[in-house]
Amino acid sequence: MKVLVVEDQRRLGQFLKKGLSEQSYTTTWVQTCAEARDALCETHYDGIILDLGLPDGDGLELLREWRKSGFNEPVLILSARDTVQDRVKGLDIGADDYLPKPFSLEELLARIRSLLRRKASSKEPVLEHRGVRLDLLTRSVTQNGVPVELTTREFALLEVFMNNPGRVLPRTLICEKIWESHYDVDTNLLDVYMSKLRAKLEGDAGKPLFKTVRGVGYQFL
Ligand code: CA
Repeated sequence: MKVLVVEDQRRLGQFLKKGLSEQSYTTTWVQTCAEARDALCETHYDGIILDLGLPDGDGLELLREWRKSGFNEPVLILSARDTVQDRVKGLDIGADDYLPKPFSLEELLARIRSLLRRKASSKEPVLEHRGVRLDLLTRSVTQNGVPVELTTREFALLEVFMNNPGRVLPRTLICEKIWESHYDVDTNLLDVYMSKLRAKLEGDAGKPLFKTVRGVGYQFL
């Protein structure tokens, strides 16, 4: 899952990016309204953490624009403005949750899980294919009942395949889903991650799970 963090305070932004990445969310961090607009035009996010006081504008304006344009994924406001009126305003404009600063990372992560769970309850929270089971809520993977340890990027990569079993996925589409910005990505890096994922899931004796489709991309068989 991809999360966008809009936060102009450098240390806090870095802290959030690190904390979320450790929970296997593919996290993009931007510091201004302009960057946030660009990020959302460029790629789809499953959730947004939004600061309000930004150097080039107000986060509430961003939220208003996004909701107007039909963006309906969860948005959590993270702000030092913490009067009841501030919260009501944020929620009325379309935020799903409002967490005042200072906050504990633990609570933020719990709220993010809760927002994504609500969203996922309409979708299937557990994906299964060929004995591989990926749980979007606990961010865990098992294969034939045995836990498989995956890194954040490997998890994101597997999630893309699990959502599209049997489909040949173009390299650019995969990169767009698992990297913060697909413009920066050397797609050769995808091959590196594919071989790591294969090494963990295909083992020595088993049948291949993935197929390389030359000139196009990969397929989860
Ligand atoms: Ca701020």
